[in-house]
Amino acid sequence: MIKISENMKPTIGIEVHVELKTLSKMFCGCINKHFAIKPNTHTCPVCLGLPGSLPVPNKRAIDWTLMIGLALKSKVNLKSKFDRKHYFYPDLPKAFQISQYDEPLCTGGYLDTSKGKVGITRVHLEEDTGKLLHKRIKGKDVTLVDFNRSGVPLVEIVTDPDLNSSVETKKFAQKLRNIIRWLGVSDCDMEKGSMRLEANVSLGKHLGYKVEIKNLNSFRFVERAINYELERQKKLLAKGQKPKQETRGWDEVENKTKSQRYKETEADYRYFPEPDIPPMTFSKVYIKKLIKELPELPDQKAKRFEKEYSIRKHYAQLLTIDLNQSQLVEKALKLAQKEGIKKDRVAGLIVNKKIDLSKTKPEELIKQIKKEEVVKITDRKKLIKWVDKAIKDMPKVVFDYKKGKSAAIAVLIGKVMQLSNGKADPIIIKELLEKRLKSKDKSS
Ligand code: ZN
Ligand code: MN
Repeated sequence: MIKISENMKPTIGIEVHVELKTLSKMFCGCINKHFAIKPNTHTCPVCLGLPGSLPVPNKRAIDWTLMIGLALKSKVNLKSKFDRKHYFYPDLPKAFQISQYDEPLCTGGYLDTSKGKVGITRVHLEEDTGKLLHKRIKGKDVTLVDFNRSGVPLVEIVTDPDLNSSVETKKFAQKLRNIIRWLGVSDCDMEKGSMRLEANVSLGKHLGYKVEIKNLNSFRFVERAINYELERQKKLLAKGQKPKQETRGWDEVENKTKSQRYKETEADYRYFPEPDIPPMTFSKVYIKKLIKELPELPDQKAKRFEKEYSIRKHYAQLLTIDLNQSQLVEKALKLAQKEGIKKDRVAGLIVNKKIDLSKTKPEELIKQIKKEEVVKITDRKKLIKWVDKAIKDMPKVVFDYKKGKSAAIAVLIGKVMQLSNGKADPIIIKELLEKRLKSKDKSS
């Protein structure tokens, strides 16, 4: 009998696969393009797994994987290699995937979140598989294979089981996506499958089981599936049963996870070193060079925005999600600084009005803000209407003023300020009021 206890808190780790947007595939010269194009148009003997073909690693894909690892504060392993991971599936023509086993490119990183550090167990490089298309042709259910995706560089990122809720997991995955997009190495589009996510979920580490959830192709599903799974496991545990170690798939129609298979163990994959690719070695100098080339990352930029432009943290974080947008934001902040406009106000405007600076250029935005400020001071036509209304609405005050109680004008100024929502310039109002009251004097 298993008792549900306090220490059975949700323990969640994720595995993320992202397709790199290199020009060519991982081990051949085929064009790396597979979304919404004619099936089986970008293939060759290597990515079709034909006998006698030999893989040649894509250097850029290796560098980009190292960059992801470094951005996630991982250690680059100076010695690394590719391995064969064997399993049979129709989308895998060689019946093995070239992946990495015991010597991945990067290990031991972390990512800061609002709930603390989340450990990055490993970052490794492998090849994507082909894609199965389930169709109905001439009244028959058929499965077709498209090998355009076969051999596309795929980075796998595995986290430590440091996440404790569905919301935390979703936020973490979104942050991870933002960083990888920022590096410009992947589109990380969940809908198009260039970012794919699996979650390992259990209630309490000490029970020694975990359930892997697959088919999470949107951030909303990540949250829903984990919530469903935690509930399911809690019910089992309440009945004194230990959940089975298995792989379950998220069914978005029925809104539940369903058992797919009992998890294979590593031994089932019969990993061994890829004999056709020599092991990789990296010099410390090379790694240092890559670190130097790393761009300023979202968190760093947010901190700098906060300090350099005195904008609040909340704004700084929201304005550093996308690299392009953040660069335009900085341009706007610099212009604001030059024009003596409060930068936090500009930042707030961009955030709250969801201003897309690639459409409204920073120069335009600042011009608009300036114009609004100018209107406040010199649009006399607008001001005179409020001045006349104030005079009309407050005959008693006007009477007092004309009787020589000059301080009464302050009341009229106050009224105009109120009518203009505080935007009118009190100096000009005073001037206009005095003129008006004098001229009315003459006419009466
Ligand atoms: Zn190819
Ligand atoms: Mn993988």
